[in-house]
Amino acid sequence: MTSDFVAPAAPVPPAPTARALLHASPLPALEARILLGHALGWRRTELITRGDEPLAVDAIAQYRALEARRAAGEPIAQIVGAREFYGLTFEVTPQVLIPRPETELLVETVLAAIEPAPRPRVLDLGTGSGAIAIAIACTRPDARIAAVDRSPEALTVAARNAARLLDPARPGGAVQWRQGDWYAALEAAEPFDVIVSNPPYIAAHDPHLNAGDLRFEPRGALTDEADGLSAIRAIVAGSGSFLAPGGRLWLEHGYDQAVAVRAILTAAGFTGVHSLCDLAGIERATGGAAPRVGSTQR
Ligand code: GLN
Repeated sequence: MTSDFVAPAAPVPPAPTARALLHASPLPALEARILLGHALGWRRTELITRGDEPLAVDAIAQYRALEARRAAGEPIAQIVGAREFYGLTFEVTPQVLIPRPETELLVETVLAAIEPAPRPRVLDLGTGSGAIAIAIACTRPDARIAAVDRSPEALTVAARNAARLLDPARPGGAVQWRQGDWYAALEAAEPFDVIVSNPPYIAAHDPHLNAGDLRFEPRGALTDEADGLSAIRAIVAGSGSFLAPGGRLWLEHGYDQAVAVRAILTAAGFTGVHSLCDLAGIERATGGAAPRVGSTQR
């Protein structure tokens, strides 16, 4: 059956622009800008300078998909697959802890500790994305660095980050990625000038593990499944054969763990034990110097 009736063309709504999408987003403004920039392949400034350009239908659909993932709780770093740390862009996957700004304190502290040493040897325990090891390697091309993780998947991400971020001709050589449990991953008694670690330090019962972005991160990178201090105890206890005389051990820990970590280091004979505050004013890292050889407490 035919009809002469022709429906009047519906007025075509104007194609959404970056400005309109950002305005309508339920996400915090910064998150919406990051995701839209990612979907469009635009720099943050282009979201402003090109804010009134009509956008292609598939670009809009792609942005909406990212926005929905974030609204469902997925961390921004995992959605875009990257996070800045120490001025470097690290690849991030669900298999690695997302690098945190407070962990830059560990990097700065290690760099200060190795400052006077030529070709210093550094060990990063529980390296994850490789953020600490690679940030140190970048700033100190002569440092010889080993980095350990229990997770082979994490080490794959770390090695890709190193391949992208480090000069293959750096005098310290390639970062040595080793898979295993803390010191068990290493050959016997390689002495390091500094051992550094951001270990899993959240207690198993801490409700934060079931909230926010942490739900999406590898549980083994966050909690020791115990009181939050067992990884730190293991790292301190095993450090004896892996620290050069007078070598330093620096650990990141939770906001309420500084007193306990100082006690663990002091009981193991470390000297000059002290904690450092992060930018929020929270005691966030604690370290000290290894007992000298011959010390009775060794
Ligand atoms: N700093 C992280 C957090 O509290 C924990 C990381 C870790 O356990 N090393 O979200």
